[in-house]
Amino acid sequence: MKIKYFMALYVAKGAQTAMRLLGRNATFLPGKLAEKLCKNFLSYMTPPKTVIAVTGTNGKTTVSNLLTSILQDNGYSVTNNSFGSNVQAGIISALVADTKLSGKPKKDIAVLEVDERSSLRIYPYMKPDYLLCNNLMRDSIKRNAHTEFIQFIVDKALPASTKLVLNSDDLIASGLGTKGQERVYFGLEAEIPQTSQPQHIRDIVYCPRCGELLQSVYVRYNHIGRHYCPKCGLKSPVPDYCVTEIDREKNTFTLRHGEEYHTYTLINDNIVNAYNFCGAIAVLTEIGLSPEQISKGFADSKIVKTRYEQLDAGDLHITMLMAKGQNPIACARCYDYAAKVSDPDKALLLIVDDKDDNIGNSESTCWLYDCDYRALKDDSIRQIVFAGPRCKDHYLRALLAGVDAGKIRCMESAKDGANAIDTAASKHIMVLFEMYRADEAAMVKAVLKDRGERGV
Ligand SMILES: [Zn+2]
Repeated sequence: MKIKYFMALYVAKGAQTAMRLLGRNATFLPGKLAEKLCKNFLSYMTPPKTVIAVTGTNGKTTVSNLLTSILQDNGYSVTNNSFGSNVQAGIISALVADTKLSGKPKKDIAVLEVDERSSLRIYPYMKPDYLLCNNLMRDSIKRNAHTEFIQFIVDKALPASTKLVLNSDDLIASGLGTKGQERVYFGLEAEIPQTSQPQHIRDIVYCPRCGELLQSVYVRYNHIGRHYCPKCGLKSPVPDYCVTEIDREKNTFTLRHGEEYHTYTLINDNIVNAYNFCGAIAVLTEIGLSPEQISKGFADSKIVKTRYEQLDAGDLHITMLMAKGQNPIACARCYDYAAKVSDPDKALLLIVDDKDDNIGNSESTCWLYDCDYRALKDDSIRQIVFAGPRCKDHYLRALLAGVDAGKIRCMESAKDGANAIDTAASKHIMVLFEMYRADEAAMVKAVLKDRGERGV
């Protein structure tokens, strides 16, 4: 069997080299080929000394990139699949690229972003030493079924030896680890919300242990917050790593671990990212990095430009923010973030349709009704342009959420959308774009930049 493995390894490595020479992206097919030539290929691989898996519905790529960059900053060599695919073939491709012909790993650490649904095909064969789960929430219904099902398969796949780093403010993610795994939790005590009213879009309503209706101490968004069961006493775990303060003026946040408090650079002020940063610090601390080492890494890091970017052109300020179409919660968080940015006269350009969605799939707009559009009612949002083939579906959804029809325009193409913004009325233009439409986002950015520079 080992011969079969090496044969598959060499073929995959050869394919990788050939594809790179041809300028092709070699982050999926070589892994697919390896798995085809040798069943359970992953189980024969020698893993790097430390394997960190990052999973969860939202924030995987941000955290994986951050972990990789801080580890590299501190002299570790890292295998990482963030720029490729996060399913089995992508993970194999990343590992193959960093495996010597002898079968030994070239790097110290693997930071693997793992699609939740691929758990059963990965964790039993490439056992992670650490697993970080940021959150488990409803995702595209075509890909991810139900949150409870996702939690079940992730939990089933995880080995007992893996140390789990879990979000204490997510009662679904924090429920992972039923095999007695060692668990540490991270969460937020900063900016505690004043409401304990459950939101109408939430993925956990009843106690997973006894079925009683859950009560909340507070709710941050969706099911993120602190909850308890009045019947059996189940409650959100106490975080070991906790963000206690976010200073938006100074662009810093403070994190408590045990008795110690440390301050880090706030790379991005979206509250969702405070969870991502806290989770990353927890993992890095667990593997032995000091607060000083982590802090230096934070100061040097930024969120990759393809996900978040701000730029000025003439008197226009442009924010490019990646939203995930078909992912109702990620998308709603972006709407909410846009509404809370303090400028009083913003324009929003929303390009959140996956234009390839109707290829090989049945079209579905039902996710729009799982996504909360009410943030778009905010008075600071002066104009909204929905651009893309389903612009009118978004328009209808926004009207049902109570958004003023007078401030909305619909454009079939992204370019027309960029030209439809009234730049005299709004100087801050926020572009929320679907991750599979990065090419159009780049084009829209160029159009807006040009309009800003020319003052038209
Ligand atoms: Zn209960």
